[in-house]
Amino acid sequence: MSNFDQLIANTIRPDVRALSSYHVADNVGFIRLDQMENPYELSGLLRDELAHRLANAMLNRYPVPSPNELRAKVCAKLGIPAGYDVMLGNGSDELISIVITAVTKPGQRTVVMAPVPSFVMYQRSAQYAGADFVGVPLKEDFSLDRDAMLKAIEEHKPAVVFLAYPNNPTGNLFDKADVNAVIEALGDTGLCVVDEAYEPFAQTSYMGRLPRYPNLIVMRTLSKLGLAGIRLGYMSAAPQLLAEFDKVRPPYNVNILTQTAAAFALDHLEELNAQARAINAERPKLAAALAELPGATVFPAAGNFILFRVPDAERATAKLLANRILAKNLSKMHPLLTNCIRVTVSTPEENAAFLSALQAPDQS
Ligand code: PMP
Repeated sequence: MSNFDQLIANTIRPDVRALSSYHVADNVGFIRLDQMENPYELSGLLRDELAHRLANAMLNRYPVPSPNELRAKVCAKLGIPAGYDVMLGNGSDELISIVITAVTKPGQRTVVMAPVPSFVMYQRSAQYAGADFVGVPLKEDFSLDRDAMLKAIEEHKPAVVFLAYPNNPTGNLFDKADVNAVIEALGDTGLCVVDEAYEPFAQTSYMGRLPRYPNLIVMRTLSKLGLAGIRLGYMSAAPQLLAEFDKVRPPYNVNILTQTAAAFALDHLEELNAQARAINAERPKLAAALAELPGATVFPAAGNFILFRVPDAERATAKLLANRILAKNLSKMHPLLTNCIRVTVSTPEENAAFLSALQAPDQS
């Protein structure tokens, strides 16, 4: 077949044709400080034991359709309140999309709302589902603009609002009073997803508030805790809501290798928590060193990454690239982020390499 232009024009949605694919930088052989990954691997003994378990996984069978045991383990180990269950997803990316799918009404305007700048998948998933995305700009200091959010909620009646807590890419925690005001304003007309992807580092959570707010969904992931490769996200909400979301969950969405590895990792959670503590201990050191860079501003960071502004982010990331180090220049993402770079907090060695690349005098 040769005339693909015609075929694509006849079949693929115009708005999809206008998109570009979710971009991840080519990163083989680089120091990867652009994706908020945990730099530490599981220790050798655990890796051997995990390999043994994976070898015994029954790959010829479909996985358990709704993995009760793994869900129970997540609930027990990760602080889900009594009486609440979780839904598991192929990363929280999939859960974001499940929530949006469940609320988007064909043929009617459905609004998905989030502050901007925030995690891009809220907007992208809304678009995939055919919902309208309304982004409400954060204030200059990246705090939630409570008045603007409340006004936008009244005007657009969003079916769901996503609040990343801490926010990606800005790194800060929104004020609890502002978050509460949003949840309360939505009441029984809209859901509020508090996305706690960085909870292992922020160590503050909305999970305990589930009983207070019927419209609250708390979403998390094992990705930042050190298991980005297995893709396991989870969300908790009232059982009545989870039962509805379950109707649009793809069957067998969490594969057997992920289920096996996640159950194993949760049995050894202490090792992952210790890694998170090591990363947290590095964060203030890296922030202080960044603040010493000429003309730099470092923003408050509650996750495993730091946002900072430099006089010329293009130049700074070029210097990093020349040293095969990846960090994310966010200048083009949003006007509030002009000359801002987001860097993952990593091992002392990688952080030092990153700093010395930035501190090196310009070539020209
Ligand atoms: N939520 C936020 C706020 C994130 O920053 C990310 C990852 N960058 C995700 C969700 C997605 O996480 P997962 O790996 O579980 O899909």
